[in-house]
Order: sequence, then structure tokens, then C-alpha cells
Amino acid sequence: MLRPATADSSVWAAIRPRALKGRMGAATIKDVVIVGGGTAGWMAAAALSKLMGHACRIRLVESDEIATIGVGEATIPTIKAFNALLDIDEDEFLRKTQGTFKLGIEFVNWGQIGDAYIHGFGSIGASLGNVACHHYWLKLRQLGQAADLERYSINTAACRSGKYMRSVADMPNSPLGEIANAFHFDAGLYAQYLRTLSEARGVVRTEGRIVRTILRETDGFIDSVVLESGERIEGEFFIDCSGTRALLIGQALGVPYEDWSHWLPCNRAIAVPCASVSPLLPYTRATAHSAGWQWRIPLQSRIGNGLVYSSQFMSQDEATSTLLSHLDAPALAEPRHIPFVPGRRKKTWVKNCVAVGLSSGFFEPIESTNIHLIQSAIGRVISLFPNAGFHQADIDEYNSQIQFEYERIRDFIILHYKATQRTDSPFWNHCRDMAIPDSLQHRIDLFSSNGRAYREAAELFAEASWVQVMVGQRMRPDGYHPYVDLLSDADLKAFLGNIESVIQKCVDVMPLHEAYIGQHCAAS
Ligand code: FAD
Repeated sequence: MLRPATADSSVWAAIRPRALKGRMGAATIKDVVIVGGGTAGWMAAAALSKLMGHACRIRLVESDEIATIGVGEATIPTIKAFNALLDIDEDEFLRKTQGTFKLGIEFVNWGQIGDAYIHGFGSIGASLGNVACHHYWLKLRQLGQAADLERYSINTAACRSGKYMRSVADMPNSPLGEIANAFHFDAGLYAQYLRTLSEARGVVRTEGRIVRTILRETDGFIDSVVLESGERIEGEFFIDCSGTRALLIGQALGVPYEDWSHWLPCNRAIAVPCASVSPLLPYTRATAHSAGWQWRIPLQSRIGNGLVYSSQFMSQDEATSTLLSHLDAPALAEPRHIPFVPGRRKKTWVKNCVAVGLSSGFFEPIESTNIHLIQSAIGRVISLFPNAGFHQADIDEYNSQIQFEYERIRDFIILHYKATQRTDSPFWNHCRDMAIPDSLQHRIDLFSSNGRAYREAAELFAEASWVQVMVGQRMRPDGYHPYVDLLSDADLKAFLGNIESVIQKCVDVMPLHEAYIGQHCAAS
């Protein structure tokens, strides 16, 4: 029936949390080198050591002199599968990372100034006769009798009441069994947490700045990396988690970067923390401003804030003052400025090197997709793990799966900019009028006619996600699925009214998010 908007699609869900033991063949890769110790590096180390630590040596090289990006604090529900793979105790993990629960993202001022809608992770209502619930809602709205779409989803209704509890496993027919959550956490503490897990499982960390990459003369594969100290680290399989520097995939192997700035206009971010305020909201907030948008990520210890903007339409000074004047509490540090280029590496697995994390590509954090992409890349590496022969067919398959995933997420993010009715600034006029990929135009056309939305193959975002953003940003379809008319108006009203009241009753019994954290996982 109901399923998470961002479901545990494809590859990751198929991986069983069980280490691979036993004797490995002569052609098995025995030396894996991970370059970089940010979120990507330690996620890769934690997963590989859990599944393959018995079979191969895993080393991670990082330099304390080169800071990690230090942001990346909001996630989507797929991270729960990653935690399960690592046997992570969720309460302990939240205590150690100052973590909170996340049920969705609130978008403020996107369709028009003054608008606010939530993209919740849970699905919307229940389907009837194989027709998705939102079609019934579209008709009731045309009749002028529908409540806000948010009232038909347990996740979004709970957000609006500031409530949270874990999904109840033995209530499959109740909305309380359908609560889909992710987390907010402190990025630095998360990397530390994963490092502790990884080192306990045998990962060897080497401190030092890499100054050179040596390629094999015969085939151009990576042979080793050389540190400033002169130490040379050899490996058979290299995972490039060196961030935007892309030391291996970009600098050594010369794989070009595909720039998507013409579709994703923002290219700068400013990050700043501020003190925590009550109530502790169970969702991220994304507030649109005149040339970009501001994130608000509530942690137990502080609120993470940032402004993502387009340097073509806003100066750094204006962006900084916009951000600082929209904080809930005084800033706790100096704002940090982070330039970026939206897009992806044309290939992320080349020869014996896979790029994971920022070295492989970057989406602005509007839908919190980057940590998911790290996890998904690691899942695919495990599923297509090479032997020493490195078969090109495996590599091609990996690259094509990653390309598909990136392009579908790209379209979803562009939608947030394109589907606006704002006319108050040159930035929003540009976004409204810009050309978009044909694949996204097709989705917009489908929805605009009869409210239809589809999840394509194993793409990340499900129908409910597309519908919530399209409706939330004022797209109004001409019609709805014709089967809806088989229901009388009175039955239609009763069907949706029942969903709304059951969801409200469930929300009423849920505890406040802050109280739930206090009871289960308060950080010391
Ligand atoms: P980094 O953190 O940059 O790590 C690079 C590592 O490589 C470091 O350890 C460094 O020491 C090492 N290194 C580099 N060069 C060398 C060298 N020469 N020698 C040795 N070591 C070297 N994602 C989300 O999912 N949710 C979010 O809310 C979110 N928000 C974001 C907000 C912003 C503004 C930005 C820019 C990103 C955000 N992201 C978010 C993305 C997320 O931060 C990254 O995907 C994640 O942190 C992974 O980064 P990384 O490990 O690839 O790179």
C-alpha cells in the first residue's frame, strides 16, 4: 500500500548485512585504497570493512591539513539501510552525532512568496482501485472541498504538529506503521563515528598529503599514490573520495566534469551554525530568497544554516547579509563560503578507480541527495566488485547505472526552480523561463494534463515525491484519472475524509519530536 517517497530502491536494499568470509581466489582484489576521509571516505571504509574486511586489506589515506567540506547534515530514508548494513544502533548513533529525526523538507516561498508546503518522505493516503490517492484529491479540490494535501500523509501531518515516533512494525494497516524517516546529524561527528567503526573492523588509516599519483605504464591503471613524506601506497583498487579536488579520477585519469549550471543556476553556498531553539522541528526547512534559498537543519546542539545562491544574480555580501538576517538565533561562527559547480564526472569508474562523493559530482543540497549518492555508489561497487581482471562490461554497467540515477535526481531538482510563479526577481524570472531537459518536460506535461506521475525504473524519487513538489509549487493539472469519476461525490468525500481523520488521530497520539529524542537518544 503506502511506501516511502524515497524508497530503498535497487541495489542497496539487496545487500545483506553479512560479511563475506572464506577463502578467496587468486584473482580476488586484496588491496583496496580509499583516498580521502570525509563523509564519502569513511562511509566507503565502514561498508567495505563490514562486508569485505576479512578478504582484503583496506587502507584510507587522508590529510589533516586538507579540511573536509564540513557540511552535509540532512539525509533521506535510504540511509536507514546503510545503518542496518553496519549494524548501527540508531539511538547510540543519534546520541553521538547530535542527531535528530527528519520526516521531510518544508519549502517556503517557492511557488509564490508566502507559500509553504512539505515534501514528506511518506506516501500520500491510500490508493483505491489501483488509482493513486492524489487523483481523488485533485477531483475533490476541483470541487473546492479538499483539505491541504499535507493532511493526507502521516509524515507531513506529523511535521506540521512537530511530532515524531518510529514507525510501528506490527501495524501494517495503520499510518503509524508507515512513518518514513531520515536523520539530521553533525557531519564532523558522523565521519568520526564511522571512522571508529571502520578502524575497529581493521581499516588502516594513513595520515599524509598525497602529492603524486603513479600510473602503470602498460595500461594507465593507478599503481600507487605518493605522500609528501615520500611514502608510496600501492593498491589494486582505488576509491577516490578526495572531494572536489578529484585527485585520482580528475587529476590523474583526466575524466572530464559535465557542468549542469545551465539547468541548476546556483553555484555558491555560505554555511553558518546558530544556537538551537525550541521546538526541535522534525524536518529540514528550505526558504527561497531572491536569488537562491536558505537551509535550516535542526540538530540537538545547534541549527545548521546556509544559503545556496547564484553569483550571477547575487553578490557575496548580499548573500551573507541575507543569510545572517534570517537566522533563528545569533551565529555561532564566522560564515564559510563554498563555491561549487553542479554536475557530474562523465564516468565515475575508470580503469581501477571509482570516484565516490564530491569527486564524482555534486547536487546542491535542496533534496539532501549527496549522502544518498555516496551510499548508492558504494552499494553498486559492492554489487559489481571486480576481480583483478577488471571486466569492462562491469565497469560500463556501473557507469550507466550511476548516470541514470544522477540524471533522474537532476530533473527532480530542476523542477523546484522551473515550477515557480515568482516574478519578483531576475533570478526567478530566469528560472521560470529557462530551458529544461526533455525528460523533465515530459513529466511536467504528463502531470499538467491528468495529474499523472511515475517512478521511472529504480529512480530515487517515487511518484509521491514528484506529486508533492508539483502540487506544492502550484502546478494545477487540467484533469485527473478518469476512474475517479466512478465514485460519487459523496463517496469521494467520505474516502478522503476517512484518510484525513485516521491520520489526524495517529498524529494526536504521537509524542513531540523533542520529547521523543529526550526519551530515546538525547546527546549528553
Ligand atoms: P570532503 O569532505 O571534501 O573530503 C575530502 C577528503 O579528501 C578529506 O579527508 C581530505 O583531507 C582528503 N584529501 C583531499 N586532497 C588530499 C590530498 N592531496 N592528500 C590527502 N588527502 C586529501 N549532502 C547531503 O546528503 N545532505 C546535505 O544536507 C548536504 N549539504 C551540503 C551543503 C553544501 C553547501 C555542500 C557543498 C555539500 C552538501 N552536501 C550534502 C554534500 C556532502 O557534504 C558531501 O557529499 C559529503 O560531505 C562528501 O564529501 P566528500 O567526502 O566527498 O569530500
